[in-house]
Amino acid sequence: MMQAEAQPALEAGSRLTIDLAALKANYRFLREQAAPAECAGVVKADAYGLGSEEVAKALWDAGARTFFVAHVFEARKLRKILPEAVLYVLNGLAPDTASIMSDIDARPVLGSLAEIGEWATHARAHNLDAHAAIHVDTGMNRLGLSHDEALMVGERHRSGALGFVPTLIMSHLACADTPDAPLNAVQLERFQASCAAFPGVPASLANSAATLSGPAFRFDVCRPGIALYGGNPFSDRPNPLQPVVTLQSRIIQIRDIPEAEGVGYGAAETAKRPSRIAILSLGYADGFLRASGSSDTSKGTLAEIAGQPCPLIGRISMDLIAVDITDLPQGAAARGDFATLIGGSVSLDYVATHAGTISYEVLTRLGTRFERRYIDE
Ligand SMILES: *Cc1c(COP(=O)(O)O)cnc(C)c1O
Repeated sequence: MMQAEAQPALEAGSRLTIDLAALKANYRFLREQAAPAECAGVVKADAYGLGSEEVAKALWDAGARTFFVAHVFEARKLRKILPEAVLYVLNGLAPDTASIMSDIDARPVLGSLAEIGEWATHARAHNLDAHAAIHVDTGMNRLGLSHDEALMVGERHRSGALGFVPTLIMSHLACADTPDAPLNAVQLERFQASCAAFPGVPASLANSAATLSGPAFRFDVCRPGIALYGGNPFSDRPNPLQPVVTLQSRIIQIRDIPEAEGVGYGAAETAKRPSRIAILSLGYADGFLRASGSSDTSKGTLAEIAGQPCPLIGRISMDLIAVDITDLPQGAAARGDFATLIGGSVSLDYVATHAGTISYEVLTRLGTRFERRYIDE
């Protein structure tokens, strides 16, 4: 099934809470910003790890009608729950998948002449009214047609010889998270030039950051992903979205250690004073990146316990994390209590920065050993 693997509450060491009301509020905010363009939802990679079935249903309820995934199997799973939705497959048309794609009425995002040829051949052979997006590379040098190829395909389309209906012309920005990067304007100009070859075909350029970067990038369809899930789309300005994800882990044990004792593997961090340590039931096997651990030379991320942010102490183990709770009032934390690793005063982007990565990677790494709760209030 689509639902990410989850564990019974009492048996799991940690709990992942996904706030569907916040997700829908983020969608409505982005849709307002995108208007009059349509606001789609990007739900690839199991909706950035949050469960594409629950997420896509909630987005549909909030008014989203167009969804982007990366793989055809992701589209097939969504089709079962969203019979009416428009589904685009970003990674395009893989060899021998055209009939799978058309059977589920998914639209490939065609990024090369080979894919365009295969889709047209399939449509003609089965006399299909086939739809697809056409991806143009405007400077990312990843997927998509060159400008010259786009002109050629555009000519074929205008002369009625393409063999299928292009329902979207799209490209993707390399530096959307830094709106002042000069490459954004270059890509915008190249995209407009390619779009001119497809008059009347809806266009799409904007991911989350570009959706929030002014009307020039919005065209007809915006494609936010991370902003729906509460990550900050920008690397250089405050986050306008609501948090969606809370990751909590239970305290297994609380212990007092003398000054100068090392904590965890490699004794990488030593107690600077007599310390009280809480051991949490979560580790890198849960996708909590080892790079966010702590040592004598580099501070790690924080865990909120009893409403207070507390520093990690020592390395992150496979299944365990140690937190320094010396500064909490006596008795404020007890065995079985939850500590918050993502959420509250510890934002998703704070956690990502302290692991040397981005919110996208933190979310898509989240593991399967959690109790998963979807709340909608
Ligand atoms: C993942 C992806 C998006 C969504 O990007 P965010 O930065 O998460 O908003 C949009 N378009 C394409 C082509 C993508 O691959």
